[in-house]
Amino acid sequence: MLRNFEQEIKTLEGKHLWRQLRVVDSPADTTITIEGRQLISMASNNYLGMANHPSIKHAAIAAIERWGVGAGSARLISGSMAVQHQLEGDLAQFKQVETALTFGSGYATNLGLIPSLIDQTGLILADRYCHASLIEGCRLSKAKIRVYQHNNVEHLERLLKARKATSPTLVVTEGIFSMDGDLAPLPDLITLCKTYDATLLVDDAHGTGVIGKNGRGTIEYFGVNPADVIQMGTLSKAIGTSGGFVAGPASLKDYLINTSKPFIFATASPPAIAAAASAAIEVIEKEPERRQHLWDNREYLFTELKGMGLQLTDTQSPILPIILKTPEAALMMSHALYESGIFVPAIRPPTVPKNGSRLRLTVSSEHSKEQLQNVVNAFKYCCPE
Ligand code: PMP
Repeated sequence: MLRNFEQEIKTLEGKHLWRQLRVVDSPADTTITIEGRQLISMASNNYLGMANHPSIKHAAIAAIERWGVGAGSARLISGSMAVQHQLEGDLAQFKQVETALTFGSGYATNLGLIPSLIDQTGLILADRYCHASLIEGCRLSKAKIRVYQHNNVEHLERLLKARKATSPTLVVTEGIFSMDGDLAPLPDLITLCKTYDATLLVDDAHGTGVIGKNGRGTIEYFGVNPADVIQMGTLSKAIGTSGGFVAGPASLKDYLINTSKPFIFATASPPAIAAAASAAIEVIEKEPERRQHLWDNREYLFTELKGMGLQLTDTQSPILPIILKTPEAALMMSHALYESGIFVPAIRPPTVPKNGSRLRLTVSSEHSKEQLQNVVNAFKYCCPE
């Protein structure tokens, strides 16, 4: 018997956990058009405005003319288009590692990477707030999984001490945590991994392009050696396109090409996406002022919201989560903001822990001061002191 969908939908509705797609009539940008109405969007991970940037669009259009639309098959089957290799070279140079390998999405990257790193003979120690794709990747590996308290280095060390000395060990964290916006203590994690002979995997989906002097991510921000970790990232956030990648040593790339199922068995992502991602990396490198603007915007909004007494997480990034605890409260606030012309998603379990429902605002370099002032005014109107 299949599940009783209607019954289960009703149960979700009753708990304020039912989700629906919103039909949007505009590109990913600082405004969003829904049902003919234009709102200010605080929902997109398009941190640097690359998703709708004229020269990135131009690169994609030119690549469609040159390479066509679809890739035809998996790269090991129909051949691997030069434009993909160009992107992987650009990513490796950007991340200052030997090589990079791309996947169809960030999600697929984590599913494909982790089971190639470790198997049932190993142990995975994962931060409690790791993204669903990391957790699924860990499960697929069949390794034993232990979860350490969020960013708690002492707890991680206790688990490392308690393990069987013979288990190959992988420690898994995000660089910037997607739902809390805080940073992982990478230098401490690296020290622990060296001491206990473990490997550190950093999901830098939200750090790539956003943080570090040159936007190379949390590894650059902390000034740690890229060779001390394995990194994954997405092309879908600051890079403004779609897809994911692993950045690390050449032997890892060769091994993934031979073992990673989402790489071997999935059609390569469209060549125009690769060309657009390369163009975006170039813009990110050549225009550091975009990142400066992103952080200035972030500081402004963070200070204003905090000043209003809203309960923000310990965020250190352009992700600004406001904790409202219950799904109902988060939905009500999201609706009220919508009525004031601001689009902010309510994030509810299972994306966040029980009692952790929240609004999650993401700031972009492209938001104007006026737009951010409107956001602040809407909050003042929706939650007067
Ligand atoms: N890792 C993290 C930390 C993420 O936030 C996301 C996207 N929500 C992913 C991986 C998956 O990336 P993508 O959306 O490119 O599939």
